[in-house]
Amino acid sequence: MRNVPELFGSMVFNDKIMKERLPKDAYKKLKDTVQEGLALDINIANIVANSMKDWAIEKGATHFTHWFQPMTGITAEKHDSFISPTSDGGIIMEFSGKELIKGEPDASSFPSGGLRSTFEARGYTAWDPTSFAFIRDNTLCIPTVFCSYSGNVLDKKTPLLRSMEVINKYALRILKLFGDTTTTRVTTTVGPEQEYFLIDKELYNKRKDIQLTGRTLLGARAPKGQELSDHYFGAIKPRIAAYMEDLDEELWKLGVLSKTKHNEVAPSQHELAPIFTNSNVASDHNQIVMDLMKTIADKHGLVCLLHEKPFAGLNGSGKHNNWSLITNTGKNLLNPGKNPRENTQFLLFLAAVIKAVDEYQDLLRISVSSAGNDHRLGGHEAPPAIVSMFIGSDLEDVLESIENDIEYSNKSTAKMEISVDVLPSFKKDTTDRNRTSPFAFTGNKFEFRMLGSTVSIACPNTILNTIVANSLCEFADKLEGSYDFDNDVNKLIKDTFLKHKRIVFNGNNYSDEWINEAEKRGLLNLKTTVDALPYYTIDKNIKLFEKYSIYTKEEIQSRYEILLDEYSKTINIEALTLCDMIKKDIIPCVCKYIKELSDTAASKKLLLADIDCSVEIDLVSKLSSLNSCLAKRVYDLDNNLIDSKNTESTLEMAKFYKKNILPAMQEVRAIADELELMVSSKYWPYPTYGDLLFSI
Ligand code: ADP
Ligand code: MG
Repeated sequence: MRNVPELFGSMVFNDKIMKERLPKDAYKKLKDTVQEGLALDINIANIVANSMKDWAIEKGATHFTHWFQPMTGITAEKHDSFISPTSDGGIIMEFSGKELIKGEPDASSFPSGGLRSTFEARGYTAWDPTSFAFIRDNTLCIPTVFCSYSGNVLDKKTPLLRSMEVINKYALRILKLFGDTTTTRVTTTVGPEQEYFLIDKELYNKRKDIQLTGRTLLGARAPKGQELSDHYFGAIKPRIAAYMEDLDEELWKLGVLSKTKHNEVAPSQHELAPIFTNSNVASDHNQIVMDLMKTIADKHGLVCLLHEKPFAGLNGSGKHNNWSLITNTGKNLLNPGKNPRENTQFLLFLAAVIKAVDEYQDLLRISVSSAGNDHRLGGHEAPPAIVSMFIGSDLEDVLESIENDIEYSNKSTAKMEISVDVLPSFKKDTTDRNRTSPFAFTGNKFEFRMLGSTVSIACPNTILNTIVANSLCEFADKLEGSYDFDNDVNKLIKDTFLKHKRIVFNGNNYSDEWINEAEKRGLLNLKTTVDALPYYTIDKNIKLFEKYSIYTKEEIQSRYEILLDEYSKTINIEALTLCDMIKKDIIPCVCKYIKELSDTAASKKLLLADIDCSVEIDLVSKLSSLNSCLAKRVYDLDNNLIDSKNTESTLEMAKFYKKNILPAMQEVRAIADELELMVSSKYWPYPTYGDLLFSI
């Protein structure tokens, strides 16, 4: 039996270890620095670094790295060993405060969207002491942020940290208005539920598409899919269970609160959910989860697919971002209260979120956009591309009663007295959690469900924190001068709800009626990444980011360029891979099968002149015409790829890929999939959907 409490966090230089190992005053100074968000004194940094190094060496570490999250969406690291030569030809193990707080990777090859040209390639990484250092593969990993020397932000972590500061500031102002004098810090918390697929490594090695693009670019449906719903929450098979056990153990060592694991809807699909924690730590941890999911799969002869849509016709993988606001005294601000006053405060925070989601639908949509996620959103397996909110019928009743100045009566509890200045007391939402909603209130938190499985959660949370902070700021500005707080706060909640209620939708988001209704309500329906991204740089959004110092205008512009470029490049790689597979493998295999069929027919004829060869002849004729058609479509795709180079801007190019390349790939695939169903499995060069999905 493993001793989980002992195992948990054993590879993390956490608060407990720091308290044990650091001199008292150094520990206190470090804590103060972290709490106040100040720069760390170099003397303290030296002490911390030395202690960290001793601890790491005891745990077998030989190297250290500044672990950061550049715009590639994954983490980056460059390893340095602790060794330092001595005059007698030996070495000592050293690690200084300077090395702890600042690193200088040659950063010229990370995407910067024009912010930093290669001749001034230097950027630096700086320790984020709010996220603990940890050891992986004998390397001490120091979570850091990444900036250019001109001060521009080049990573995903810095804006997230900034947004957490901003929402803290304005949430505190609101709490003060309600007479709360004990809360000194409000933190956003996140629990991301991570979906993934596991397939057999030997089969993976035979699929160029999955290797190069993370998804299948062709493949006919297997006779069985997810229609029986027999995988969801089904018994976990021994090989998968062993993997999950290993994964949990490694995650626990790194202090990741891995909690829930189960089978998901599609065959071979699974989910892991951690217990929630502060957003920045949750973001680091989610990166560790994704990383370990892949490396541990390898040890088990498996491959973990984090692509948003690895298999056509089956559910893709997403990531539900559960989000809330918690005070340092442990109160969840999205928990409806026990009395009218607490409820008023809750309703004001709720109103802030409603306003934020309505005003910045575009930014939320952008925060989850990628070529891969475009395959999921609106595919009747994930929320549509239209952003709306589910708040549940009880809460909607409450808001309606406020809107109409009428008595609120809760169906499940007694009637409540309500007057203009006293808000109703109500029970926590008891209704079914609407699974189709992109942004659902689930009792004491919001669940943002549009995220694809690969995305870094840093950006969606940066946006979420910033837009809600913006609502809170406007509310605080209005209410701080109020002479009749109760009345004014009620009016503000009412006005906000009236103005933004179009964003609330409790019905079925997968239905066609909703698409029409949403259009009538004037909600945005940004179907693809290319439709969404141009909104990034519109005036209102740049103003928002600049007002709260999350991004500068240049930083937004660069992010916009990076995302568009990434979109085109992703599809370009997919298209090239598809062409390669068709030309080198599929067309030749069909030819071979045609030859075998023709030879068979010919030799049959030799044996008996009037023998029935209709099966062979029929197949040869169908296969030949499909194969010609396939060759033509690939030729068209090739030509389209050449034309894509003639576009004038990153936006034009991305539009071209969406409009021309994706449909051309689809046409190629359709024919290849039809051929797959007719060609003998002896000749078909790739493992089929049936092999990939049902072999474990
Ligand atoms: P579901 O029914 O959607 O599977 P669960 O109730 O199991 O949801 O919770 C899902 C996730 O929500 C978990 O990762 C959990 O840690 C997270 N969560 C719960 N409370 C909060 C909170 N206050 N803030 C952020 N995340 C939370
Ligand atoms: Mg969920």
